Amino acid sequence: MGTLWVNGKIYTMNKEHEHARAMYVEHGRILKMGEEGHLRRTYAGRIKQIVNLEGKSVYPAFTDSHIHLIGYGEALDRIDATETTDLQALLESMKQKDGNDDWIVAEGFNDRLLGEMPTREMIDAVIPDRPVVLKRVCRHVAVVNSKGLERLGLIHHTVIEGGKLGRDADGKLNGVLYDAALDLLHKELGGNREKNVASLHRAIDSLFAHGIVNAHTEDLFYHGDPLETIQAYEDVLADLPFHAHLLVHEQVVDTLIRHDALAKRPRFDFGAMKLFVDGSFGGRTALLSEPYTDDPAQRGIEVHRPDHLEALVKKARSYGMNVAAHVIGDAAAEQFITLLEKYPAKRGTRDRIIHASLLNDALLKRIQALPVLIDAQPIFLSDDMNLLFDRLGNERVDDAYRFKSMLDTGALVLGGSDAPISTVDVRKGLYAAVTRQSFEESGALNPPERLSMYEALRSFTYAPRVATGTHGRDGLLIQSYNATFTVWEEDFFDLRGRDILDNRLVMTVVEGTPVYEANVVNA
Ligand SMILES: [Zn+2]
Repeated sequence: MGTLWVNGKIYTMNKEHEHARAMYVEHGRILKMGEEGHLRRTYAGRIKQIVNLEGKSVYPAFTDSHIHLIGYGEALDRIDATETTDLQALLESMKQKDGNDDWIVAEGFNDRLLGEMPTREMIDAVIPDRPVVLKRVCRHVAVVNSKGLERLGLIHHTVIEGGKLGRDADGKLNGVLYDAALDLLHKELGGNREKNVASLHRAIDSLFAHGIVNAHTEDLFYHGDPLETIQAYEDVLADLPFHAHLLVHEQVVDTLIRHDALAKRPRFDFGAMKLFVDGSFGGRTALLSEPYTDDPAQRGIEVHRPDHLEALVKKARSYGMNVAAHVIGDAAAEQFITLLEKYPAKRGTRDRIIHASLLNDALLKRIQALPVLIDAQPIFLSDDMNLLFDRLGNERVDDAYRFKSMLDTGALVLGGSDAPISTVDVRKGLYAAVTRQSFEESGALNPPERLSMYEALRSFTYAPRVATGTHGRDGLLIQSYNATFTVWEEDFFDLRGRDILDNRLVMTVVEGTPVYEANVVNA
């Protein structure tokens, strides 16, 4: 007994423009697509339910190919500073947060919106007695108050390899932490099974409401004991039809292998070993081959010394693993590509270049010869347009986020949000990929690098399934595939510019069962 979905515009995403009006689903699988009348006759006696899609558009459900699921769930529960323009008001609202002497955390401030970079002293002036941390939107920079420095055990003489401690004009610590210095914070803020379970529930509820049913996620280093983090996944995914593919941070890989913890589970499995090569544009820690345009004294930082980076890649290979590297600057891309050339991936497997934010033609050419996938976050382009021009200058900025050229290399290009760094809203990712404009509809950045809507949608649907080898049953809407899809008020293929952002998700369905339905009263 099954369900007949009728009167829709059901895109297979197998070929551009290909769609059907109806599909018949049994036991979560698509048995046949085609015309309603034909399906009614073919499955007469087996149709238990008919759903009228009322002309709405249907696409395979989305994957977010680079996200921090637990971090996203935590951020949903923390003070959101992403839109904050007034530091004083932010600190006052943080002060109200109860919880004895627990850390007070605000997520995602942007010093451009605040008009200044917060410091330890500014926070101390409002909250002197509890540890406070403000995380910058890029999550590669954070600011703590004096109490926070104390908790982290940071003193004047502390030196952090792969990171940096900000200092004021007198050379005193100003509370700003960069890159590897944040590892201390992750350890301190920790997490436990119960907390992580709650965060995962919050995250997944939100993702279902955004049409996302699958995530490639990186969480195992930041939320307490990695074995307990995996248990939290087991707990949550035992009852929820959500799928996850977990990257394994280099700092926990030995432990997890020693405990034989990386076996595939019914709803999640493990992927490449994750490492960082550099930082972010925001903190001017992304590693560039030429100095920053707005600070010629800086070219960014190496998170690992070159010999250590090489040792990490060799370690992954010794475990038979692929490598997934956070790479923002062109010099970071160069370093990582050189290592992949020297230590090739196992036949039939792909390494991951995460972000690949700045690629010149020479680097793209070398990528063409490598079995890689690229985790792209189109939304970064629209979020950071002005910052990109400042940091990179008017010419070099054309090498930023070259999505079309990435596809042309033959690399598998996957769409993601890097939430909580950006929002999980796929409409924003699609808008950014096809317009290359900021959300205020600025001029377009290097228009020939635009993706078509079909290419953009594929990067959030089919391509991530190919990346995890689950494309035999997910990522398309064709016969024998899972009936895992989203229903939208408007057809993305008909929408232009900001109208893409206003499309409305009606329903998210996993294997034939709705996991999210928009409140019909609002219609
Ligand atoms: Zn990330």
